[in-house]
Order: sequence, then structure tokens, then C-alpha cells
Amino acid sequence: MGPFLALLSTKFSDLYSKENKKKFPTTCFYIQHPKGSLLWGTGLDDRYANLKGGKSFYGGMSKHIVKKTLRKKLEKIGVSLDSITYVSVSHLHPDHTGNLHLFKKSKILLQKEEVDAGFGPFPFFYFFEFNHYKNIKKQIQTLNGDYDLFNDGTVTIIKAPGHTPGHQVLLLRLPNKGAIILGGDLYHLKENQKNKISPFLITYDKKELQKSFLKIENIQKKEKAFLWIQHEPSHWEKALKPPLYYD
Ligand SMILES: [Zn+2]
Repeated sequence: MGPFLALLSTKFSDLYSKENKKKFPTTCFYIQHPKGSLLWGTGLDDRYANLKGGKSFYGGMSKHIVKKTLRKKLEKIGVSLDSITYVSVSHLHPDHTGNLHLFKKSKILLQKEEVDAGFGPFPFFYFFEFNHYKNIKKQIQTLNGDYDLFNDGTVTIIKAPGHTPGHQVLLLRLPNKGAIILGGDLYHLKENQKNKISPFLITYDKKELQKSFLKIENIQKKEKAFLWIQHEPSHWEKALKPPLYYD
């Protein structure tokens, strides 16, 4: 393993869901590696920061409320938008794609099935927000399954479909902290993991999702990894916040 560095986690904004009458963090992660950097998740659209009361989605089922912009959060940790080598999101739902449009110099890593769905005739069928990502097509590097980003096993994108056609999670192997899986929306909350149920109403393929639960559980056991559920408030609350980071 190389002298590879850090994971920074930041709560960028709040997602409110009427379904559980709760506020959730939309967590984004910045990963610095000697061979480049990766932003995992882009959160809610910075442009909603100007909207009083936030922006409604799915007929008011969820609301995007932006208090501090992603741009500002990155500036605060000394990272400029144009310096980021790779940007990836677990999937194309709007609470993850809000700021994809900001990263004009980065390569954007997505599974083939997600790209096909997102740029097909009916993105709204998958609950995607086409306006968030319509301008990034040329920057996409399409993945066909698991992908070892820096070729040393430290940062690996793992395909875990079901929630959406090409949903993916991120396996990090950090020198001190050990293995962490950034779970995207494989589970929305801890309860989902306990009961092995599909989060919310918008699951694309429940059978695929059950297979992905199993796949990630096996990796988690083998790696003795912590599974970070990205909308789980308690995971966010306990996390190290900038300027602290995981290494
Ligand atoms: Zn989400």
C-alpha cells in the first residue's frame, strides 16, 4: 500500500423526507491519493441555497435544503473545483447529482447501466433529474462492474445495483483506519440494514438489491469494513469533521 492519504467527510446540506418526517444528511467525501483525488457524491445543488424553503422533489415527498454550498465546503478544506481528478456518485438520484455540473475538468465515473438509464429516453422513470447532469456526458468514464481506481486496491468502486440500475458503492482501504465502505443508498438508514429491506418506494429492482445486500455484506465481513450509510444521521454525527480526517 502506498503512502496514501486522507478521507474528509462533510455534511453539505439537508435532505428532508416526508415519508419518515426526518431530516437526513447528504454526505459527500473527498479522497486524496498520491495519484489523484476523488470526490464521492456531490450532494444537493448549490443553486438551491438561494431558494427559500428549499426545492421540492417527487411531488413534495422530499425537499432539498442547502445551507452551505459544496463550493464553500471544498474551499474551506483548500480544494478548488478544477483540481479534482475524479468525481463519482453512487447513483443519479438528485440528492447525489446536484453539483455534478460544477466539475468541468474532472472525469466522472459511472456504471454503464446508470449512464444508459440517465441518458435514455425516460430518465424521470428512474427518478433522475436530467438537468443536473445533462452537460457532463463527455466527461463520463463508463465502468463495467468493479473498478480499482488507482490500481493499488486502496480505492475501489464496487457495483451494487438495485436501488437504481447502476448503483455503486466505494471500498476504501486506509492505512490506519482500515477498510470503509461508502454505501451510497444501498441502505438509506440503519433500520434498512437491520431488516434488509428496500429503502423507500423508489427502488428500481428489489431482487437485484437483495443480491447487492449480500455482495456488500460479504465484502464487509472479509475486509472487516465499516459500512457508512450515507443518509444515516448517527453515522454523520459520530464522524470526524474537517479539519480532521481519516487516514
Ligand atoms: Zn440519496
